[in-house]
Amino acid sequence: MSAVCRDCAKVYDAAPASGCPNCGGTRLFAHPELDALEIAHLDCDAFYASVEKRDNPEIRGKPVIVGGGRRGVVSACCYIARIYGIRSAMPMFKALKACPDAVVIRPNMEKYRQVGHQVRELMQGVTPMVEPISIDEAFLDLSGTRRLHHGTPAQTLVRLAKKIEDEIGINVSIGLSYNKFLAKLASDLDKPRGFAAIGREEAVPFLAEKPVGILWGVGRALNKKLEYDGIAKVGDLHKFEESELVARYGSIGTRLKRFSQGKDVRSVDPESVTKSISAETTFEDDVADPDNLKVTLWGLSEKVARRLGRAGYACDGVQLKLKSADFKLVTRSRKLSGPTKLADEIYKAAEALLMGEADGKKLYRLIGVGAERLLPGDQADQPDLADPDRGKRVKVADAIDAVRAKFGDTAIKKGRGFRK
Ligand SMILES: [Mg+2]
Repeated sequence: MSAVCRDCAKVYDAAPASGCPNCGGTRLFAHPELDALEIAHLDCDAFYASVEKRDNPEIRGKPVIVGGGRRGVVSACCYIARIYGIRSAMPMFKALKACPDAVVIRPNMEKYRQVGHQVRELMQGVTPMVEPISIDEAFLDLSGTRRLHHGTPAQTLVRLAKKIEDEIGINVSIGLSYNKFLAKLASDLDKPRGFAAIGREEAVPFLAEKPVGILWGVGRALNKKLEYDGIAKVGDLHKFEESELVARYGSIGTRLKRFSQGKDVRSVDPESVTKSISAETTFEDDVADPDNLKVTLWGLSEKVARRLGRAGYACDGVQLKLKSADFKLVTRSRKLSGPTKLADEIYKAAEALLMGEADGKKLYRLIGVGAERLLPGDQADQPDLADPDRGKRVKVADAIDAVRAKFGDTAIKKGRGFRK
């Protein structure tokens, strides 16, 4: 059975009995199909909390929650906090009840995005076949990289994890398999700082005992339906023909059947593009005043414009998102007269949408703005005869961006961003 040392990346035909003869490390990983598996899922461990701990040694041994305000929820929590039962998406008051001594840190999304970017760059240094699925996780297809990296995918991944630890200062967990769905499940098996594999031989029996809810695409509603029909475990799907599953649950029936057999035809797709870029805020106290909402909206529009610019996009549509005090979600979209990456233009469209909703009485707990219909950034803000100042505003926006890139995002605030 092949093995790889997770400290020095040396491979062995058979796992050494005790420790790595090469480096003395004890983190040896052995698997019968280790050399044949080429699809990986890499996931940063407790990402936001890890970045905060990296930047502040004083909180390293403490339970850390990243999240917002007394009205907010837990965005992320470290592994110490998890011992107290704290989980992502838990309301903050509940989390603090479970662990009153937790260090609470307001999320700094800009920073996490930058770190996420650095991680992505290291991944792309290993293979161009990287498919990001969120700020801190991605699929990698390592087939065809043996010659380039002088090693098996497992070795390359061990070296990558080490590099991320050394150069960026956070830990990751890696799952290795022969398709995306199983690689993602594998990365969860040995967290944190984990390395796990699911091979062809073991996939079906491994899955059979798992709750059906682990399958990609099975949300709470479908899970309930499946359980009601006597399908609680993945193995229960074996009793049905694919056609029966399709008849009962629609097109997802095909996927359910294939997943239960350990099959996933999706390939790692580095082309999967961002479809929207957005920002939102949950208020400490519900807000009805349109002027107040507009101030927040301006800040969010600036944020979205900044992100568009950095990602090299322009947008040709804007979406406004509002959640009322009674948790009703409203989204309103409009197409723009031309692609833009200017905060002004995004704000103008979002403000018009807001004026159709905010009547000064209705209370809102959340407001968000999104840039939609994304296009390459160089198509943005063409000269417009009807708007002769546009060229000037583009130049001002570029200058502001340059200052911010140098001195930080709060270096310049426009008048509109100040609350009366
Ligand atoms: Mg993660």
